[in-house]
Amino acid sequence: MSTLDFVRRNIREMDGYVSGEQPAAGKYIKLNTNENPFSPSDRAIDAIHDAASNKLNVYPDASSSLFRRTAAELLGVEPANIICGNGSDDILTILTRTFVSPGTKVRIPYPSYILYRTLAEIQSASTEEVHFDNDWKLPVEFKQADENLSLVFLPNPNSPSGTTVSNDQILEIAKELNCPLVVDEAYADFASSNAIELFKECDNIIVTRTLSKSYGLAGLRFGFAIASEPVIEQLFKVKDSYNCDALSIAGATAAIADRPWFDENRKKILEIRGQLYEGLRQLGFETVPSEANFVWCRHPDHESRFLYEQLKQNRILVRFMDYPNWGDGLRISVGTENQISALFTILESIISG
Ligand SMILES: *Cc1c(COP(=O)(O)O)cnc(C)c1O
Repeated sequence: MSTLDFVRRNIREMDGYVSGEQPAAGKYIKLNTNENPFSPSDRAIDAIHDAASNKLNVYPDASSSLFRRTAAELLGVEPANIICGNGSDDILTILTRTFVSPGTKVRIPYPSYILYRTLAEIQSASTEEVHFDNDWKLPVEFKQADENLSLVFLPNPNSPSGTTVSNDQILEIAKELNCPLVVDEAYADFASSNAIELFKECDNIIVTRTLSKSYGLAGLRFGFAIASEPVIEQLFKVKDSYNCDALSIAGATAAIADRPWFDENRKKILEIRGQLYEGLRQLGFETVPSEANFVWCRHPDHESRFLYEQLKQNRILVRFMDYPNWGDGLRISVGTENQISALFTILESIISG
């Protein structure tokens, strides 16, 4: 008898999630995992130092109340509408563990965030992928009710496209579905609207957020969900008791409170996103306007994989995505102005050579 025989069958049969390459620091210009290219708020770093000096011998606050109070005030909700997690991936795990029973179905748009499928597989649930149309619009099937559905994920803005679905559409989808709708707003801080307050109108809407992208804190691991109070109460039962550590609670709270840092950073990212988008178009790339901190593109005359490899040889990492039954492309994160101009120098030489 081997230990492996005891591994649940769905786990044995699934592939694990593979995240974007994280090479040794400094080796590459990293434009592949949508991190913020700028360092986070100094106030966040100070708060982390402070917590490291004073708080490590005792358990952290199991409900991250300081963060929830601060975030609630900023977002126009109550602390009871918020639950925190070890990155928003932890929140997505809590949500699937709460809602998704074995044998049920999880609906996701395609192509989108690959982790949703992994989370469904861990629960022994199946995944129903509804393809975006060629303009990255959702077909009507996406909102159709189905009694086998236990959860629907909608990343908004979507990755890899950076495109969005309007709040009116989100409400329409939520009202037709007979199950919870998770709007994954990992990139919403870079967008022109968000769904934070929609749970007040439609209580099957749950919004998730992360500090990894718009606050430059991917290494800290902090995310949260916003939903109606009774839903949050259920999620609290499922989370690990101390799922956020003292350093991350302190850092995350200081980071969201530092509005000048946030406003300035957002402005820079949106400006550089515009340069990235325009530059790619001038080089003949097919692309789509993005409301996130990355741009999705494809070149009509050059294979995406070839461009990815050439860039990598020149120490620039972008994300090459090849989606079965869809096609491939490059997802390029917004970097600093210097990083983007280095990118264009290499791309120009490949494309004109
Ligand atoms: C980056 C990302 C996340 C995860 O963020 P973490 O908080 O770093 O776990 C969740 N959803 C989408 C769509 C993302 O791109």
